[in-house]
Amino acid sequence: MANKDYYSTLGVGKSASDDEIKSAYRNLAKKYHPDLNKTPEAAEKFKEINEAYSVLSDKTKRANYDQYGSADGPQGFGGGGFSGGFGGEGFGGFEDIFNIFSGMGGRRANVREEGEDIATNLVLTFTEAAFGCEKEVQITRKERCPDCHGTGAKSNSDYVTCPECNGSGQMTYTQQTLFGMTRTVGVCKNCKGKGKVVKEKCPNCHGSGLKTVTTKIKVKVPAGIDNEQVIRLNGEGHQTASNTGVPGDLRISITVRPHALLVRKGFDLYIDAYAPITTLLLGGKVEIPTLKGTTTIDVAPLTQSNTKYTLKGKGVKYLKGFGSGDIIVTLKGEMPKDLDKSSIKLIKELESNIDNKAYPKTNNYKKKIDD
Ligand SMILES: [Zn+2]
Ligand SMILES: [Zn+2]
Repeated sequence: MANKDYYSTLGVGKSASDDEIKSAYRNLAKKYHPDLNKTPEAAEKFKEINEAYSVLSDKTKRANYDQYGSADGPQGFGGGGFSGGFGGEGFGGFEDIFNIFSGMGGRRANVREEGEDIATNLVLTFTEAAFGCEKEVQITRKERCPDCHGTGAKSNSDYVTCPECNGSGQMTYTQQTLFGMTRTVGVCKNCKGKGKVVKEKCPNCHGSGLKTVTTKIKVKVPAGIDNEQVIRLNGEGHQTASNTGVPGDLRISITVRPHALLVRKGFDLYIDAYAPITTLLLGGKVEIPTLKGTTTIDVAPLTQSNTKYTLKGKGVKYLKGFGSGDIIVTLKGEMPKDLDKSSIKLIKELESNIDNKAYPKTNNYKKKIDD
């Protein structure tokens, strides 16, 4: 399927934070909004920007898009391209456009409170990363106070309508300027726009509405994950006091411990296997470790050192889609460290027995030196 690259549409990297995405979107939306930009391509561009933003600004859709290339997740395969809620209700793009333009007009935008993200690390063994696993990470985060449910008030009767703005959260301020008196509508300073104030503070959270809690979070690590990749758990970051706020995300950076023998590059595994030089001469079997036990390769007689073998599908499972990488074996013949007299005698016999023509590479090499 032809995947749209939403990241490049917004001109951000794949690891862009929510804030970076939002800011890139706002800049582009201002640039291409059809009311402001009358060039013929602006409308199409504006649509693309909104489509990209509607996916990347939605935690679930972004995770699906990152993992499956579709905002709808795995079932979105084959559907071809974008099938999210563009143009429909609940689409964050228009709300944000409204914020941009209402912001320009000096009207207060109704901004949702957002909790901060939390970043943490998780160390995995080689096989845990290859096969996936379930882990727990311990984090410390702000959670909505269970006693006051985030209001910060000791009881319901301590949480009252703001007398300054009568609960609207807005105030009209009159100001003397060079041009005379101006009236501006702004956030009520008394209640900071909440429309409610606290009479007596909740003793559990001291009025903040939030408690700092250390908690363990279960993490499903997908098979095939690699070093330096990040698992993002939506909504597991810091919470907001307000119950209409959106909690932040938990971002878990993965570190994978190396394997004793297998070296991972992408989804393929590389290994240098060693066998006595006689095995390469006479042929035989060589054991190779895999992710699931060991397997053997059949070495033909007269195998050259550094011969490569590909064990198809024995590598790491692809993070996206089906199948696995390969194991690529480089077989190295090892010379004996030392030889007794009788062995040397036998090898001398062997040497004199083998016709020079049996070494074409050596002959070719000598010939080139002589030329
Ligand atoms: Zn107020
Ligand atoms: Zn409280």
